[in-house]
Amino acid sequence: MTNLMKHIVSPRLAFVAALGTAVPAPTIKPPVAAKPSVVTTTPDLGAIAKEIGGDLIDVKTLAKPSEDPHFVDAKPSHVVTLNRADLLIEGGAELEIGWLPPLLESARNDKIGAGSPGLVYASQNIRMLEVPTTLDRSRGDVHALGNPHFLMDPQNAKIVAGEIADHLAQVDPKSAAQYKANLAQFNAKIDAKEGEWQKALAPFKGAKLVTYHNDFVYFANRFGFQILETLEPKPGIAPSAAHIAKVIATMKSNDGHVILVQPYQNRKTAETVARQADAVVVDVSQQPGAIKNTNTYVELMDTLVHTIASALQEKK
Ligand SMILES: [Zn+2]
Repeated sequence: MTNLMKHIVSPRLAFVAALGTAVPAPTIKPPVAAKPSVVTTTPDLGAIAKEIGGDLIDVKTLAKPSEDPHFVDAKPSHVVTLNRADLLIEGGAELEIGWLPPLLESARNDKIGAGSPGLVYASQNIRMLEVPTTLDRSRGDVHALGNPHFLMDPQNAKIVAGEIADHLAQVDPKSAAQYKANLAQFNAKIDAKEGEWQKALAPFKGAKLVTYHNDFVYFANRFGFQILETLEPKPGIAPSAAHIAKVIATMKSNDGHVILVQPYQNRKTAETVARQADAVVVDVSQQPGAIKNTNTYVELMDTLVHTIASALQEKK
């Protein structure tokens, strides 16, 4: 090693030694502008953000695909992620009210504060279903502003994508044209696929579905199903014996033979009900990535549509 090289290398070694671990050598950042750092609360919003932003943005998601979006485990790493965000996409409609507000307070990031272009409320232009006439959280109902599971309607996915494209264009104007083009492409893809989905589900129009949580109303609305019952007496409230007995009776007298359950819901309860009501328990997910081959929004809906169609066919 020449004296000159020693001179260059040694400060770096000293830096590594000071940290006490074998961290990679610090690199000098390239002079190009960094990609906007986009954070989404849930994976479904992350999947749509990727459709609009593509390689132009970095997307991080706080909730895991297997986690209940109402009750996410808040971690210190979430605070760091939110602190560095250029854009936050949240559901709006209080889906995340139980865990997001304290994280945002700790993150202290004005870029994603209320009213700034860096904050997207996905529900902004959504026609909400089941909006209660009076706001009542007293009994633990987690749908106090209406049903927040609106991404189960593919037409709502287009509305949310439009909102995201609009905010990305404000935060990162140099790529506005590309975001707009990606939005047009996503919308066209959804419209084409919705034709397929409607066709696959058409033979089952009017079928009655039972869900664990009240999370399929937008899906039922779009594709012509009826949500007969939910195993939870109210959104976010665990099933009680009395309520379960009522659900079983309703299913028996109304031809309800399919119970939809997501990975974080109590499958055992659903199985008990299914045994007594001659029904099948069907594993589904509303979050991309929880079930195999569901990484994009379209793949997720493809899987949902085909899983539900085969269960209804089986019990026809
Ligand atoms: Zn809910």
